[in-house]
Amino acid sequence: MRDIRHFIDGVSVEGKSGRFGDVFNPNTGEVQARVALATPSELDAAVQSAQAAFEGWAATNPQRRARVMFEFKRLVERDMNLLAEMLSSEHGKVIADSKGDVQRGLEVIEFACGIPHALKGEYTMGAGPGIDVYSMRQPLGVVSGITPFNFPAMIPMWMFGTAIAAGNTFILKPSERDPSVPVKLAELMMEAGAPKGVLNVVHGDKVAVDAIIQHPQIHAISFVGSSDIAHYIYSNGTANGKRVQAFGGAKNHGIVLPDADLGQTVKDLTGAAYGSAGERCMALPVVVPVGKKTADELRERLVAEIPTLKVGVSTDAEAHYGPVVTEAHKQRVLGWIDTAVQEGSELVVDGRGFSLQGHEKGFFVGPTLLDQVKPTMKSYHEEIFGPVLQILRAETFEEALALPSQHQYGNGVAIFTQNGRAARDFAARVNVGMVGINVPIPVPVAYHTFGGWKRSGFGDINQHGMEGVRFWTKTKTVTARWPESALEHQDSSFVIPTMR
Ligand code: NAD
Repeated sequence: MRDIRHFIDGVSVEGKSGRFGDVFNPNTGEVQARVALATPSELDAAVQSAQAAFEGWAATNPQRRARVMFEFKRLVERDMNLLAEMLSSEHGKVIADSKGDVQRGLEVIEFACGIPHALKGEYTMGAGPGIDVYSMRQPLGVVSGITPFNFPAMIPMWMFGTAIAAGNTFILKPSERDPSVPVKLAELMMEAGAPKGVLNVVHGDKVAVDAIIQHPQIHAISFVGSSDIAHYIYSNGTANGKRVQAFGGAKNHGIVLPDADLGQTVKDLTGAAYGSAGERCMALPVVVPVGKKTADELRERLVAEIPTLKVGVSTDAEAHYGPVVTEAHKQRVLGWIDTAVQEGSELVVDGRGFSLQGHEKGFFVGPTLLDQVKPTMKSYHEEIFGPVLQILRAETFEEALALPSQHQYGNGVAIFTQNGRAARDFAARVNVGMVGINVPIPVPVAYHTFGGWKRSGFGDINQHGMEGVRFWTKTKTVTARWPESALEHQDSSFVIPTMR
């Protein structure tokens, strides 16, 4: 059995805990490797390596740090096929989508290549007589990222790209379900010229995560995963004095107004609901058609479209989506479909019995469509995270606007319409962090910022873009005076200095 090892101080390190997690091949259902699960002392070894690297890395001028990111980008592009195959074989998403996962992460690396500009401070000459004031952004020190299984390349790069370019050194605790790509990324960072200790990968479960939360030398935690864990990390991390951003689950709605281009909307909805087997925090698992006519026509078109979807192994270039990540997750998704039916949803297309010939033990779930979903249903309230699309019919625009606004999650939302005024009004009033207008998956570009509201995000500062730079740095402000001679010396002042 292949062992997936930690990456500490620039080298691959064998796990010593004696505890391992299974890494499956979701296409076949077989265990393909085991990943070491770290103890607090293994985490501490990574922190000490990162601490030793910090002073030199922080003192390296930003342009040189940027050059490492430029080289890293080149190496990731060189190894794109290898990374996509590795990712696809552990996660189960199809190769083209795996390349998208890597590419979206790379776009944050491209932003990080501009770190010298992003770190430029502010300067006021003559803020008072002979007094200048300037502000600078400095790195925090050793920082960490804890990432989910569903984007094993993109989300680590969201975090360490900006953090490392800004001069921090990093401990990455990736998902134990698909841990190989994060290790490969760390190896490429070393090949790109990052000194050892600048990026360490420590695998693990709650034990490693708790060790991160409690470690006094770790100054910040960026977390992405499910909401209960996000809340746990946010409350305990901040209680331990760390800066924490923690992004959680989602239940994104797609609002379809009567004037929407339904042909295009159906294409957008099927891609966004079923792509990556629905295992995206920016998937669109709920569609809200406004008015009965829109709902009936939309449903009819979805019923015609769904049989054209091809579910296949992740290496099948023609498959639209592959298996879900584990058997346990498959059972969870199937359980939610059962619950939805028990709660009174109408099962229009049933993906529960889907089996792929020759891959009967793979973790496949067929595309599922539910109608007559009600806001009171648990299956609507909770995240399913599978290839399941729920139709919740609304009578009016206001009713449709209220649904995502009142939902416990507030990650993303999309509206499909040709009416610019309605779309503008919707975008301004909806109580959700990221909005798409005729864009089904509104993941902002890397130089803007990513973050959901309500139970989709705990903390104040978003991922990537300038918000990322703010999260990974602290501001220092200097007030300076250079008296020319003893004649300019002033007596002691016992009142607060003002600019009067
Ligand atoms: P998860 O919460 O199970 O795991 C995320 C991380 O937390 C992993 O590294 C895992 O090892 C760790 N973890 C798991 N259980 C823990 C515990 N009890 N204590 C401490 N740490 C623990 O999430 P997942 O299943 O890997 O990912 C899917 C979830 O992530 C979905 O809810 C999805 O919506 C969410 N997600 C959110 C975003 C976003 O930006 N809001 C992006 C991607 C995924």
